[in-house]
Amino acid sequence: MILSDNFGRVFKYLRVSITDRCNYKCKYCSPYNSFKHIDHNRVLRYEDILYIISTLARYGLKKVRITGGEPLVRKGLPEFISEINRIKEIEEITVTTNGSLLDKCGVQLKKAGVKRINISLDSLQADKYAFITGGFDLDKIIENIKFAKKCGFNPIKINTVMIKDFNDNEILDFCEFAESTETIVRFIEFMPVGGIEWNYDKVLSGESILKIISTQYKVSNLNNNRSPSRDYRLSNGATIGIISPVTHHFCEFCDKLRLMADGNIKPCLLMNEEVDLFNIIKDRDDNRLINTLINILKLKNREHIILQERSFKNNGKPMSSIGG
Ligand code: SAM
Repeated sequence: MILSDNFGRVFKYLRVSITDRCNYKCKYCSPYNSFKHIDHNRVLRYEDILYIISTLARYGLKKVRITGGEPLVRKGLPEFISEINRIKEIEEITVTTNGSLLDKCGVQLKKAGVKRINISLDSLQADKYAFITGGFDLDKIIENIKFAKKCGFNPIKINTVMIKDFNDNEILDFCEFAESTETIVRFIEFMPVGGIEWNYDKVLSGESILKIISTQYKVSNLNNNRSPSRDYRLSNGATIGIISPVTHHFCEFCDKLRLMADGNIKPCLLMNEEVDLFNIIKDRDDNRLINTLINILKLKNREHIILQERSFKNNGKPMSSIGG
């Protein structure tokens, strides 16, 4: 049996935030001054997450992304990923990380079955990188990106959130970085999620990003399929992607749900609604789980509403809980 929403989109992809704790304090990710972490006794255990993944795998789930908070701060991650990798229906396991701990567990993650990873990097200037992350060292991350390459992750995608007057003067530097490190830099529009300071003026649109890139490089459209990212090959040989959730939407192909570390699940990143699955998961109640999932999928809208409501505010959980 497959699960689909009211618009015929088939569910295949689960993003799992395994912790809302992060060693970084990125300014655009969470209102850290007022942020309250989930109580330890409310955090799903790995066996709980394995239960939901293996159950949903029988209903069409094929792809899992592990995120956070910072997923690499949670102990036992490689062993947990090995267990997911044993579920035969799961075709792909990916991880989104700030990269700071890849030197410690990159090798194990690769062995556990992660083939490709996304690493967040919002500035190539040491002072700005330290500012946005809450004091962390750019050189260390660059070293870890190179190390990830040696571990054999392929591709490595760099997630770069573009914020006007912060890093919009680094777009061309990121294009060079993509070429020199053989990574795919993905420029992401700044989204209004979870009570952070956001307004439309801070958003640099995907179109503006492409225009800036085109001043320096010849750009060929790689015209990829169903991905949220529009990918381009540049004349320096680099591949870059542009993700425009604010000025455009790519809801048409949305096949995902987002499970958070407290057992709540979100039908859409840009909706405040979430549904509590904690007890259903703890009770290992397959029927209730699938019936609830069917109802959650019905909550998905045809498309998100930022485009219609420019003053849109999402005051639900922040990205640091949802995981992006
Ligand atoms: N700690 C990990 C990391 O840094 O990649 C995983 C969690 S983080 C919430 C996942 C992704 O969400 C990161 O790439 C981050 O840049 C992105 N993100 C966080 N807040 C965002 C926002 N307001 N708009 C767009 N992307 C955001």
